[in-house]
Amino acid sequence: MSLQFGPEYVRALAPYQGGKPIAEVAREFGLDVSTIVKLASNENPLGMPASARQAMLDAMADIGRYPDANGFDLKAAITAKYGVPQDWITLGNGSNDILELAARAFVQPGQSIIYSQYSFAVYALAAQAVGARSLVAPTVAYGHDLDAMAAAVTGDTKLIYVANPNNPTGTFVTAAAIEAFLGKIPPQVVVVLDEAYNEYLPAEVQYESIGWVQRFPNLLVSRTLSKAYGLAGLRVGFGIAQPGITDLLNRIRQPFNVNSMAQAAAIAALNDTEFLHKSAALNAAGYAQLTTEFDALALEYVPSYGNFVLVRVGSDDGAGARVNLALLQQGVIVRPVGNYGLPQWLRISIGLPEENAAFIAALRRALA
Ligand SMILES: *Cc1c(COP(=O)(O)O)cnc(C)c1O
Repeated sequence: MSLQFGPEYVRALAPYQGGKPIAEVAREFGLDVSTIVKLASNENPLGMPASARQAMLDAMADIGRYPDANGFDLKAAITAKYGVPQDWITLGNGSNDILELAARAFVQPGQSIIYSQYSFAVYALAAQAVGARSLVAPTVAYGHDLDAMAAAVTGDTKLIYVANPNNPTGTFVTAAAIEAFLGKIPPQVVVVLDEAYNEYLPAEVQYESIGWVQRFPNLLVSRTLSKAYGLAGLRVGFGIAQPGITDLLNRIRQPFNVNSMAQAAAIAALNDTEFLHKSAALNAAGYAQLTTEFDALALEYVPSYGNFVLVRVGSDDGAGARVNLALLQQGVIVRPVGNYGLPQWLRISIGLPEENAAFIAALRRALA
């Protein structure tokens, strides 16, 4: 028998599948890099804010030194913006880091983690990486069924992931529903409320999750600089929770998990409300542009609160892969979601108006 390393649950892990890189598609399909449109990873089509670029240039002079392991200035910026004490903040190498730290800090092999069907792929990976049992709650209308999630709690449940808005479906649960849900969860079960797309929410549904952190010692809210703030390549996110949770996360994280350029850029971006408003407005216009076309093509889509839309491109289980390939051949990269159990659908990140138009033109040809 050949030598096998590590526990069975690690060997059984299937790595996260990201959006296809532009250079790879260019190589595979013999296309010019400059003609390719990538709407596959929910990135901000504006790129980074100019304020963050300048902050990074300034920070570059000190790159020979280690970063501030406690991220004092970045935490101060978060404190100023959200009104939480510094010892309620955990910085992460992307919010992905926060999601994984939570599984490592609170769950032992064999204990259970709850998340929803059709929710973010990282939850399943984080659970499996620590040898946890995943309890997957069924959805309603492609979104979180919080009642089903609360009902799934068992004696050994240690962690629950809720994405609001959810990726890849774009669904949203209201503040009232989340608050009622938090009231039902046993206090020893940690709830991670993953708000990666929070900044895109229209004012009328926006809510104050930080207030819940004050009331619920078992709540961990996670935020990212990767989406509306335009810094996906830098890897910065953060978690907000009371010290009982935050202290443990900070013990197990790498000491320098957020690099110094990223800390500097994040401070600038958090303070750049103009960029944030511009990003949200561009996203709303792009959403209207795409969904108008989907309506014209009589394609079903899930109403989205994020910077992407899930659209059904056919009624057979080969449809997603087939239309995806036809789009790739035309230099348009979107995200197939067969691995989420949605083989008839594609997830389209909202781009610049001309990128959305290029996608629509390619989609029309792909469906013809
Ligand atoms: C994109 C995304 C994240 C965050 O990604 P990071 O770049 O690691 O911050 C977290 N949760 C959801 C649901 C996402 O879609």
